[in-house]
Amino acid sequence: MKIGILGAMEEEILFLEKYIKNQSSVVIGKRKYICGELFGHEVCIVFSRWGKVAASSTATILLERFGVERLIFTGVAGGVDPQLNVGDIVVADDLVQHDMDASFLPGMVEFEIPLLGVSHFGVPEDDVQKAVQAAENYLKNELAREVSPENLAEFGISRPKVVRGTIASGDQFISSSTKTAELLGKLPNLKCVEMEGAAVAQVAYEYGVPCIVLRTISDKANDDAVIDFPKFIRFVASYFTCGAVRELLKTF
Ligand code: SAH
Repeated sequence: MKIGILGAMEEEILFLEKYIKNQSSVVIGKRKYICGELFGHEVCIVFSRWGKVAASSTATILLERFGVERLIFTGVAGGVDPQLNVGDIVVADDLVQHDMDASFLPGMVEFEIPLLGVSHFGVPEDDVQKAVQAAENYLKNELAREVSPENLAEFGISRPKVVRGTIASGDQFISSSTKTAELLGKLPNLKCVEMEGAAVAQVAYEYGVPCIVLRTISDKANDDAVIDFPKFIRFVASYFTCGAVRELLKTF
């Protein structure tokens, strides 16, 4: 089964690319699709860029031009659940587009995708469990070998954990506790916010393929979300992504 892997951070994809054997690549619509064999699976990986349109068009190309039968999306996200810290990993068990609101129209409710009748895109339970296990295995068995204690300490990461729950996506970088409180009020199981996952989940739903979304918390989506982002991606998040994907691919 060919697997499409999308990353919202270019560094994560560059990192994964190093492990791809028998590589071939092609540029379509300003994206470089790199295909080959990754940890024993036929894959096609691509930097999706940011936002719902960018991510969903990339997912569609993966399905239509490369015939992938499963999608995995990785990236960073802003933690909304107060229990989450920078470096924790969230596995989506459902995804919602928090900026979708056609509720003014008769019969529609907030977050529902018009004409599709769905607001929450669920991930198959078996896939959620595999992804949680994969991320936990990485943190428990590999992390200490790959990321230095200094780099972890710089971002205040001591005991990163894996949680599952709702991920909300929208075309906004959220950095306001008022906004996160409002979203949490409407989506009680919300763990984090980002800008792509639920768009890819919608495409996957419409094509009838499974989609796993894994996110490393990079900030708390609030007013003091100032970290050295490039450094975090390069020295922490890219390892988390690569490790979790590697563990996940072992299970397919
Ligand atoms: N500050 C970074 C930009 C990354 S933000 C930089 O300077 O390089 C864009 C990416 O991070 C998107 O893929 C988005 O999904 C994710 N993201 C991380 N935290 C987010 C937040 N608080 N709100 C929305 N998206 C967030």
